[in-house]
Amino acid sequence: YADAAMYLAKESGKNSFRFYNTELNKALVRKMEIERGLRNGIKRDQFTLYYQPKIHLQTRQIIGMEALLRWEHPKLGRVSPAEFIPIAEEIGQIIPIGQWVLQRACKQNRAWQEQGFPSLCVSVNVSVQQFQHSDFIKMVSDTLNETGLDPQLLELEITESIMQNIGKSKAILYSLREMGVKTSLDDFGTGYSSLNVLQNLPIDTIKIDKSFIDEIGKNNQKSMVKTIIDLGINLNLNIVAEGIEHEYQMDELIKNHCYIGQGYYFSMAVHPKEFEQYLQSEDSLNKRSKSELATLG
Ligand code: C2E
Ligand code: MG
Ligand code: MG
Ligand code: MG
Repeated sequence: YADAAMYLAKESGKNSFRFYNTELNKALVRKMEIERGLRNGIKRDQFTLYYQPKIHLQTRQIIGMEALLRWEHPKLGRVSPAEFIPIAEEIGQIIPIGQWVLQRACKQNRAWQEQGFPSLCVSVNVSVQQFQHSDFIKMVSDTLNETGLDPQLLELEITESIMQNIGKSKAILYSLREMGVKTSLDDFGTGYSSLNVLQNLPIDTIKIDKSFIDEIGKNNQKSMVKTIIDLGINLNLNIVAEGIEHEYQMDELIKNHCYIGQGYYFSMAVHPKEFEQYLQSEDSLNKRSKSELATLG
């Protein structure tokens, strides 16, 4: 790394040497710190899975949740998965970390089941390396067996990058479907899915990337969301919108027949204890409306 830093610094000219040297070094030191940290993070108990509710836009009911990984580094503090996941992929640590995530999510969902909460599907993000790893299917099936979670209550979120090895990905998707596990294409619209390929993939859901939701209301961009929703409907896929921050975005989605979404407008990803409180209040709400119905006769 030091060599690379020196090389880049020299390349960029003598005058900027000092600047590049310090800036690059800082970045490289941080990266090395993250790499080292990722190798010990599990055994040092630094990871937590947070949950973001998935909402039915019309009833506002929680209909599922996405598990999102949080990492507290002793020195660097909270490091974003947007920063550390690509590094974990680079150094191969995504395999043990991904396995930890899946186990934790399945165990948690099963525990909520046993506590009597309504059955909800948990969505788990899976990196392409993990997805295409030779042990992946066995790992998923072992995890379901060990935790006793109903496969229907697990969804795996993958990205369009699986298209790079379409034959292999297709076989894995079929194995998952056979197992009863659901799948969804995350960040949809940002990668390169050929429509022809998409049509022939056993996928249940597309998640419209936040960038398209952000464009809603900004002059003529709203048709893009409509185009993606129509595509999903035509392919017979479920459609989820991610990154809803405003009511007008939700209204536009409903108007265009997308009825499920996630976003800060409803809730950020929260600690499982807090998520449990959501479930509790939903549960009492459900019971209340049932008893209200009963009194209405
Ligand atoms: P993603 O799977 O597309 O997850 C959505 C990201 O957007 C999450 O960021 C979530 O907290 C954030 N988000 C949700 N609603 C809103 C909103 O209304 N506004 C804004 N500004 N952001 C919103 P997060 O948790 O930082 O995760 C970033 C990415 O890191 C994820 O994108 C996913 O690709 C990856 N990631 C997170 N956890 C895992 C994991 O356990 N395994 C793997 N392989 N990747 C993960
Ligand atoms: Mg996701
Ligand atoms: Mg996404
Ligand atoms: Mg993303």
